[in-house]
Amino acid sequence: MLVRDAAGSIVSLNPAAQRILGATKEQLSGAVPADDGWRLVHPDGRLFDSADYPGTVVARTGEAVEGVLMGVQRVDGSLVWMECNCHPLRTPAPEEALFGAVTSFRDVTARRAAEEANRFQAALLEAVGQAVIASQPTGEILYWNRQAEAMYGWAAGEVLGRNIVDVTPAVQSVEQAEELMRALGEGQSWTGDFLVRRRDGSTFAALVTDTPVLDHEGRVTAIIGVSTDITERLQADDAMRRLSAIVASSGDAIVGKDLDGTIVSWNRAAEQLYGYPEDEVIGRGVSMLAPPDRRDELAAVLSDVRAGRTVTRLETQRRHRTGALIDVALTVSPVRDAYGSVIGISAIARDISDLCEMQRALEHQALHDALTGLPNRRFIDQRLQQAAETSRRHDAPLAIVLLDLDNFKNINDAAGHQTGDAVLVEVAQRLRETIRPGDTVARFGGDEFVVLCERADEAAALRVADRVLEALAEPIEVDDRSIYVGASVGIAVSPPVEAEELLRFADAAMYDAKARGRARAVVFDKALAQTADERWQLSNDLRQALEEDGLELWFQPIVDLANGELLGLEALCRWNHPTLGMVPPDRFVPVAEETGLSSALDKWVLRQACAAARELLDNGLFAEKGHVAINISARNVADLELEAIVREAVEAAGIPFRAIALEVTETGVMAEPEQACEVLANLQKLGVTISLDDFGTGYSSLTYLRRLPVSTIKIDRSFISDMVTDPDDLAIVVSIIDLAKSVNLGLIAEGIESTEQLTLLRRLGCEAAQGWLWSGALPLEEVLGNVAVGHETGNGWPQALPTDAPRRRRREPGVTTEHGLTRLLQLHREGASLTTIAAALNRDGFRTPRGQRWHSVSVARTVADLVQSSASGTAAR
Ligand code: C2E
Ligand code: CA
Ligand code: CA
Repeated sequence: MLVRDAAGSIVSLNPAAQRILGATKEQLSGAVPADDGWRLVHPDGRLFDSADYPGTVVARTGEAVEGVLMGVQRVDGSLVWMECNCHPLRTPAPEEALFGAVTSFRDVTARRAAEEANRFQAALLEAVGQAVIASQPTGEILYWNRQAEAMYGWAAGEVLGRNIVDVTPAVQSVEQAEELMRALGEGQSWTGDFLVRRRDGSTFAALVTDTPVLDHEGRVTAIIGVSTDITERLQADDAMRRLSAIVASSGDAIVGKDLDGTIVSWNRAAEQLYGYPEDEVIGRGVSMLAPPDRRDELAAVLSDVRAGRTVTRLETQRRHRTGALIDVALTVSPVRDAYGSVIGISAIARDISDLCEMQRALEHQALHDALTGLPNRRFIDQRLQQAAETSRRHDAPLAIVLLDLDNFKNINDAAGHQTGDAVLVEVAQRLRETIRPGDTVARFGGDEFVVLCERADEAAALRVADRVLEALAEPIEVDDRSIYVGASVGIAVSPPVEAEELLRFADAAMYDAKARGRARAVVFDKALAQTADERWQLSNDLRQALEEDGLELWFQPIVDLANGELLGLEALCRWNHPTLGMVPPDRFVPVAEETGLSSALDKWVLRQACAAARELLDNGLFAEKGHVAINISARNVADLELEAIVREAVEAAGIPFRAIALEVTETGVMAEPEQACEVLANLQKLGVTISLDDFGTGYSSLTYLRRLPVSTIKIDRSFISDMVTDPDDLAIVVSIIDLAKSVNLGLIAEGIESTEQLTLLRRLGCEAAQGWLWSGALPLEEVLGNVAVGHETGNGWPQALPTDAPRRRRREPGVTTEHGLTRLLQLHREGASLTTIAAALNRDGFRTPRGQRWHSVSVARTVADLVQSSASGTAAR
């Protein structure tokens, strides 16, 4: 308390005032508020105006001023808050003159600080994003902040003093409630989530922390509950859980990475796909999964994704923990935060190894031969294209070595397909071992193989061919059998051949190698090129001729050597080429066979020949026997459609089957013996005569002859032409005749041009023949005309046989072996076979003129000798 006089000077102050103001009586005595330099402040921080000092106001108004809160800056600089009352001092009545004022004040600094703190805390509680509720242990609500109002829908005024259980009923489990009570009883806080009902009856999920407030004796005086609405979070959690479940159970490997590619998450499928458990990869760079040659690609992908792009279905390879490569399809996408910035990378990998494996297998299968595992024709076609380009770019030569196994068909036929396959496999293996590193060997089909030699000129290609032929010279052992395979090799080199044409020309060269007697290599050259081109041209022209009826069918008589009558007519094809003139069938038939025209040709010939047979029948020829003989191309003998084609032609012409014969060659039959035999046997059953053409030039195997459905053999004219002068040829003719007789086959000799040949053949017992001696092939009208004229003149047609020279008595040979020769001729005349004769002569102690044992060839030679000398009129020795 301090007292001022009327002028405002302090006249006295008590010790409490001195303490509050922090100044002594002496320091303050006489001080006037206006000039004392005190700084008095309002609670809001403004300075007090000296006119507003309570003492000044009292002095001016004479009224008391009470309850003024002011801060006084003390001499030491600290601020003290005080609440002061100021009363006027007056003289006793009646003057009541104002002579001073007494100011009493209390230090309220501490109270003010507490109030401040309270306000701060209140503001804090209001500012908290959570609902804060304080209640008594009995449940009466003491405090309820703004968030609580928002969350529960109750205003603070509505709930203060009410029981919390009534205001915020919770859907809580019994266990939760017990847990809560126990925790609070022990003075501990408890956290749990449960559903809470709002004022409007709706509920929300609240995460609540209840904390007891304890007094100094540890009794609970209040409970403070802080609650958060976690409905959204729960939903998000739910979604997250669901998502994680999906990620975890996904069959695709899902790998999370941060921006620099460090692995941060790893699902079970990733574990399975890559083989690493989670703890071995988390924190490591994802590049550990990429094989070295895919690292650049991976880096590019990561930088793409960092830039916000998604890389979809990238098919690439990754490495399994074991080091094995796995094929994967990757989708790599950026992971963004709520603001859209890329904060991570997620990669989904699907194992496509099986798919790729299958694809590779399919590709391999499409480009490789199943039997030998070698690349196939398609592969070599592709490869050749690439090689052609490279060769052109580098100006380097390129060669194709094409080889075709000689007589592979025989191996197949004689030893079976399995053996054939084994041989092919072994050949493939030898080729693999033979070729130079960089070269490609492929199976071209059937028994054809190809070696593509890059940077190889003619000399190099020939060396390859030599090595190949050498490798194949060693016999191949299959099932205790030694099998010899030779090969004919065709080589084409670019330049000069166009790279794209290499295969075609190597093929032509290979054919030439075959034609020149097999087991050799031929390099394609100009001359061959010309033949190849000519053939190409010829085949085009032939196709056209077939379409436009540019071919003709002529007929050559087959003569019965017993009486000179017409036994049949062989149909021979003639082609009058618009620019080349007459093209002989020897030239165009092989071309037709090579270019796939042979079946069209045969069809055409069959139809024409059957029509001709019809006409002959109509003219009274071949009424009971005799036929038109039709040549069937070697390519078509085993054709399963042949029977149908023949039937069709025969039926279209309305002729009996026996009115035609089919001439087939051994080569044709042997291409596919079983099938050919079946086809021919069927035709034979229908009544068609089957003749084996050009006999003596092919296998001429007796074993086969017996099995073939053939009724006649035709002795090739190459033997006939020389048999008069060449004893070897004559011997062959004798053997063939002998053979035919022994297996009961009909015989026709071809190409008889001289009476000498005729005489010889008749003596040898040949039954039928054809040749220029009678007539070449003629158009059908001429044949019919000749027959008619022959009728008129009584000479017949073909001409009657030359009258046989009067049979001279054959004198016996006058040498030591003459008995033997007599015996030989005797046996021969009786029709004994050559081997039977040889055996008989040997048994009886006879030797050949050279003093050796007889065998079929020497018997044949001797017969031929004897017959010839007697035919030419020279005396027998
Ligand atoms: P091929 O079946 O051996 O026919 C007999 C060949 O000998 C015919 O030749 C014929 O004109 C000829 N020739 C006949 N008599 C004599 C003779 O006394 N001396 C000589 N030096 N030759 C004679 P062509 O007509 O040139 O036929 C040659 C080959 O062409 C035939 O041989 C046959 O394999 C084939 N060919 C002919 N026509 C056809 C046909 O219509 N279809 C088929 N697929 N091939 C045919
Ligand atoms: Ca013929
Ligand atoms: Ca012939």
